[in-house]
Amino acid sequence: KAHKKGKGRFLLKLSGEAFAGGGGLGVDPDVVHAIAREISAVVREGYEIAIVIGGGNFFRGAELQQRGMDRARSDYMGMLGTVMNCLALQDFLEKEGIDCRVQTAITMGQVAEPYIPLRAIRHLEKDRVVIFGAGMGMPYFSTDTTAAQRALEIDAQAMLMGKNGVDGVYDSDPKKNPDAVKFDALEYGEVITRDLKVADATAITLCRDNKLPILVFELLAEGNIARAVKGEKIGTLVSD
Ligand code: UDP
Repeated sequence: KAHKKGKGRFLLKLSGEAFAGGGGLGVDPDVVHAIAREISAVVREGYEIAIVIGGGNFFRGAELQQRGMDRARSDYMGMLGTVMNCLALQDFLEKEGIDCRVQTAITMGQVAEPYIPLRAIRHLEKDRVVIFGAGMGMPYFSTDTTAAQRALEIDAQAMLMGKNGVDGVYDSDPKKNPDAVKFDALEYGEVITRDLKVADATAITLCRDNKLPILVFELLAEGNIARAVKGEKIGTLVSD
């Protein structure tokens, strides 16, 4: 198993939607800057951070399919969208003085390294942040599944899922139901049988089969990324 010298290694999954700020579409540099500041603080403290960013602020394959596009092709558009988020975050992390590499599952040598797992681990050991772009490079998958797979391959101790506008997992949508109840902890099986909106089923079963804990928390609350890596009781913890 990979050698770890830091305080801990985490895979942080960031929602693409958060990157859009209030806009819904595209990248709000102020939001990305704020997220970069939070990440750089924990990297300076000695935590190893790898990141997967969604692409919902650009394209979701399933949505384009509903509007008549070929699914696989629109999924590739979705994957390319994630790369723009990666570059934006890389830029702001570097402005914070944190070395950062982007690795993409679809090769594009001018903008990023290809996905090379052992190299990603070396970057982490050298206190660099690694951002994985273009999902798994395969249509019909999600960036949640990518995050779980990358977390397992780099031997991260948990997958930290930073959400936009919700502070954990609820029994119903808290934006629609004022009586929705938040879970502090959940088992993988409950997430699947109750169809709770944590991540897609492929991602959840991958985590369950490999005992990878998932913490779901509000991304944009100040200090939350630090609380998440330190194991403070925020959000919802999904485990065995
Ligand atoms: N996608 C894909 N394969 C992957 C990862 C992502 O096809 O391995 C596509 C898919 O169309 C997805 C889009 O990229 O809808 C954006 O990712 P996602 O919906 O996971 O972003 P999020 O909702 O987390 O912002």
